[in-house]
Amino acid sequence: MLSKTLKSFVEPIVKFCCSQFPKKCNLCGKEYVDFKSFLEQTTPAGSVTNGVKYHSQKGDIFGILSWVSCKCGATMTISCTDSEKEMHRMFKEAILNEAKEQNTTPKNVLNEIRQEIRKTIISE
Ligand SMILES: [Zn+2]
Repeated sequence: MLSKTLKSFVEPIVKFCCSQFPKKCNLCGKEYVDFKSFLEQTTPAGSVTNGVKYHSQKGDIFGILSWVSCKCGATMTISCTDSEKEMHRMFKEAILNEAKEQNTTPKNVLNEIRQEIRKTIISE
């Protein structure tokens, strides 16, 4: 179960994600008109582990939320928060706190948020 604090991030994240569309795959050229069709037609980060590894090298843990696979197999990225802004720092902090409180890993917490985001968008 996500805490209220983390749930409160879902809406701004969804908004920020939506603002990045339309988006085109660099490899096959497929254009995703909006976030919804993007979520419906891509596979959520097949490379969760790679994502975490990659991002943790930069002190970041957001690979899970931002990596997806296009139908053609290419990895596409989407930003879940504006890294220039305070929200990014707060979100990260909230995830780490949540992981500690629930005695789990940030990766699990991020997976939960990802599910929540997908549910929000796809059930609309
Ligand atoms: Zn593609």
